[in-house]
Amino acid sequence: MEQVFGGLDNSKQEKILNTKLTIYICEGEEWEIKKWFETINIAGVPLNNQELLNAIYSGPFVTKAKEMYSNSINPQMQKWSSYIKGDPKCQEILRTALSWVARGEKNIDGYMSLHRQDTSIQELQSYFDTVIDWAKGVFGSPYSEMRGLPWGELYEKYHNNPYNTQDVRFRVNALLADDHVKNNQGIFEYILGGEQDKSLLNIRIFEESTKRAKFVQQTEAAKVAGHSNCPYCAMSDNANKTRIWKLSDMDADHVTAWSKGGATDISNCEMLCKTHNRMKGNR
Ligand SMILES: [Zn+2]
Repeated sequence: MEQVFGGLDNSKQEKILNTKLTIYICEGEEWEIKKWFETINIAGVPLNNQELLNAIYSGPFVTKAKEMYSNSINPQMQKWSSYIKGDPKCQEILRTALSWVARGEKNIDGYMSLHRQDTSIQELQSYFDTVIDWAKGVFGSPYSEMRGLPWGELYEKYHNNPYNTQDVRFRVNALLADDHVKNNQGIFEYILGGEQDKSLLNIRIFEESTKRAKFVQQTEAAKVAGHSNCPYCAMSDNANKTRIWKLSDMDADHVTAWSKGGATDISNCEMLCKTHNRMKGNR
């Protein structure tokens, strides 16, 4: 339970007042001070990376930035927490804001060093607001799945593209309801990128047992008919027309694409040779 000094009994007050503190005053170049912090950080409760940077680059910029982003009673914190994961008291919101304006976590150090003596955090603040407002503008009211996405990066990559919020939300809702999609967090970038990169969604794939059963079925029928067990090869005019592929030379394909509602079970599975599977996938 939290207590105040005045409320403690005398012996406890005495104990606090008589406790000897070890205070290091370090002087030197920035890199020397940095080394010091790393050394003293080994004892006690270690500071996290951002706390360490705040200490190293202490000054007007950090003070102002912390007032804004490390203050858990900032009324905007709730709005931000729809997009950002983390605890303001652990400097995690500040870290995100800095990583956005600095274009990546690895540049935070340099950014803080450059702006250490600034008395204004205007650039930091306006970039942060721009990113959040953009995300809100594209997707409308926030989805819980979008919390913690790399919004700064997504903004840099996609903010020049036009989006219609109503269409976007229609697609987000459809993909969230689609049980082939195994990575719901990937839906947002998938849509921003014009629904090209399916790897973002981690689409459910056919079971090995399904592939094998379909392979046996196709291969037996192909041998009887005297053509290739890849239906596309069978239709061709080249040497592969009668070629019987091994299971390891084939891949499973959705006859009706999952994006058009095709199921991921044997009724919608077709084994194709690797070349034809790749060609079909690229259409
Ligand atoms: Zn083929």
